[in-house]
Amino acid sequence: MNKYDSEILMGLLRERGFVPTDDLESADIALFNTCSVREHAEARVWGQVGMLKKISSPLDFVQKTHKIKAGRTPRPTKKIVGLVGCMAQAHKEKIFDKLPHVDLVCGPQNIYNIPDYLEDIAKNNKRILAVDEKERPVDRENFSFRDKTKNPTAYVTIMEGCNNFCSYCIVPYVRGREKSRPPEFIIKEIEELLKKGIKEITLLGQNVNSYGKDFKNGYTFINLLEDTDKINELRRLRFITCHPGDAEVKMFKAMSKLPTVCENLHLPIQSGSNRILKAMNRKYTREDYLRKVDVLKKLVPDCSLNTDIIVGFPDETDEDFKQTVDILKQVKFDTAYIFKYSPRPYTQAAKFEDNIPQKIKEERNQELLRLQKEIAFSNNQKLVNKRVGVLAEKVSKKDEDYLIGRTRTDKMIIFKGPLDLIGKIVEVEIKNVSISGLGGEWIGL
Ligand code: SAH
Ligand code: SF4
Repeated sequence: MNKYDSEILMGLLRERGFVPTDDLESADIALFNTCSVREHAEARVWGQVGMLKKISSPLDFVQKTHKIKAGRTPRPTKKIVGLVGCMAQAHKEKIFDKLPHVDLVCGPQNIYNIPDYLEDIAKNNKRILAVDEKERPVDRENFSFRDKTKNPTAYVTIMEGCNNFCSYCIVPYVRGREKSRPPEFIIKEIEELLKKGIKEITLLGQNVNSYGKDFKNGYTFINLLEDTDKINELRRLRFITCHPGDAEVKMFKAMSKLPTVCENLHLPIQSGSNRILKAMNRKYTREDYLRKVDVLKKLVPDCSLNTDIIVGFPDETDEDFKQTVDILKQVKFDTAYIFKYSPRPYTQAAKFEDNIPQKIKEERNQELLRLQKEIAFSNNQKLVNKRVGVLAEKVSKKDEDYLIGRTRTDKMIIFKGPLDLIGKIVEVEIKNVSISGLGGEWIGL
């Protein structure tokens, strides 16, 4: 979601004549689009923005510029530094106290105004705090920003916010309540992307099954899948994320019936222990989850399954953790993103004692990572010698003769092939499996 927001922001700034640069030192403006879901992500931003202090206070900046570009007149102004996104929303004006060289603090609901804020800051030499709780406009057309795309895949937001209030999660507090984007804007955005050569679309929402619940006309996520599937040039359709409590047979049926919808589902379980799931306010049990996976596998037989897990939630005992180990073994996920619990501001769980020592969180994290690696390896091993359709996405950074693409089941695969295959769906025979992914041989188009 943040990647998508960064793309929107880049587009808005380009429209206003700002030019992107990779050179932080000489940039006039540095914007950080931030995530506050986990403490670790925030810690990195505090560090990185903090480091900018050296090159953004007026005096240091002049001296430093002078040193680097000897002979040229340094600009008398300082760099404008902005902190954008969920972290800005979570910490608001406290950011100015902690990082006095920051000029702009802007929450996700206000990102469309950023070009105006920047001009105001530059002209009037002031600070701006833009964290009002008002909803973000969902009836905007967001397509001007992707005109230089090289990758044939794109994200499209279908809804903002979340109403679930899982006890550990900051999202409802920083991104507000659920608000669905009207389908006509989504379809128009997708059509524009397809005209630019995009072949695969991923629909984004914190809980896509809630899509449309705020409409008065009964239009649902399934309707959106059906309408998107009908668009002529679209080859592949994905979506993230799906709350297991709301994932219904209707959706699995749509997945099996609609040709563009890929055989892959991200269904975050978070924990295998019913006691912990209850404390997390997830509103399903491990038995519910397993039943749904069974139905899914029956209706969409080759469907791959990804999940998220949190270890070290308050009061998580060895027995609770064993239940999570057990569910990993039972379901045999293709990918599992495993996180160590960190208390987040505003949340219910922040009121519980964060009583699992860091060392135990780390050990549980490592144990699951090791186990998941084995499971993924063994799942992938079954694919050797099979022929699969792969959307070629990009050139490998390690060796330019190789391309990287993905199967419909969301498996990364590397294979040798010419550049002009990028953006095409090609047939690849899987030859080997390594820790980092699959290797194959290009057979043909
Ligand atoms: N809407 C998505 C999740 C978005 S947050 C869903 O419900 O699946 C992405 C992931 O971050 C979550 O699935 C969870 O595993 C993790 N996460 C969220 N809050 C966390 C916290 N306080 N500590 C550790 N991990 C957290
Ligand atoms: Fe957070 Fe739960 Fe909403 Fe996902 S469903 S964004 S974990 S509150």
